[in-house]
Amino acid sequence: MPLPRVLGRIVNSSVRIQSVGFGNMPKEISSDVFLVDTLAAGIPGLVASYLIKGEKSALVDAGYPTSANTLLSELRALDASWRQVDFLIPTHVHLDHAGGVGHLARAMPKARILVNEHGAKHLIDPAKLIQSAVGLFGKEAMSLFGTPIPVPTDRVEMVSDVCDLDLGAGVGLRIFWTPGHAWHHMSVLIESERLLVTGDAVGLRYQGFDIPIPATPPPGFNEEQYVKTLTGFTGMNLAGLLLPHFGLIREDLRGFLEKNLETIKQWGSRAFDAVNFGEPVDRLFDWFMTDIANRAGKSLDEIPDHITRNIMFSAMGCYSHAQEVRTKQRSLET
Ligand SMILES: [Zn+2]
Repeated sequence: MPLPRVLGRIVNSSVRIQSVGFGNMPKEISSDVFLVDTLAAGIPGLVASYLIKGEKSALVDAGYPTSANTLLSELRALDASWRQVDFLIPTHVHLDHAGGVGHLARAMPKARILVNEHGAKHLIDPAKLIQSAVGLFGKEAMSLFGTPIPVPTDRVEMVSDVCDLDLGAGVGLRIFWTPGHAWHHMSVLIESERLLVTGDAVGLRYQGFDIPIPATPPPGFNEEQYVKTLTGFTGMNLAGLLLPHFGLIREDLRGFLEKNLETIKQWGSRAFDAVNFGEPVDRLFDWFMTDIANRAGKSLDEIPDHITRNIMFSAMGCYSHAQEVRTKQRSLET
């Protein structure tokens, strides 16, 4: 699919580095759970990792490759005697979640890396991850985000449907497959606290922009799976959601998930109309932007660049998914 006209503007306008020094402290969610801001491209509040501590510790998501040093310094700020986490768990193999895994794995020679079975090969050989990130962000932005390095095969442990991990001291994790945003997507339930590290399965919710924004990028977005995953979360009796983009949601979880479902279903059906009527993806993007502005009670000008960029990727993902479904339907008809 050709890149939409707006993408160049979005990527270029987003390439602004704020200088944020080290010395950031992880934020305590509970005595066992900490939010670590990865300061993506130097900007706070965009990409989080979560540290979970029992007798052993796990870091869920690793941020961009250029965030690895920030993460290491924040973990040391939390615990001066800290050497390494025991488990690195990327929720999925996209650049903002798994890009830093190879760099962190090198700095933590004993950490075990748990990844969904469908994504493991892209950690071991990140060529395809790099290629698709360059395609989405462009080369200029990639110099901000950095380049992933391979994770040695013998460090990678594949998770299929579900995996229970005992960190000791009464802290247990259930890591389970949650496709939709990507085929290789997992979420992590912190069982004792009923907190769910969602990955991108519930989309985005930023401070000051307090609505769910579906994250449906190409090439892996699948609407039916996305809906199934979200619907599954509504029945899990959760006490809180921990979003990589960004932070903790404790209030009205059911309302958040239901609004999420409503939005994705409307986006999906609008994408099918766009494909059926031969509209360009630009038109779908404009519709999504207006929809999000209306839902948030804001003007289009008030939508920040990082949200605009994500909505662009989501328009591309919904569009290409609708094209695939239509192609399949047509081949069945003939
Ligand atoms: Zn993400």
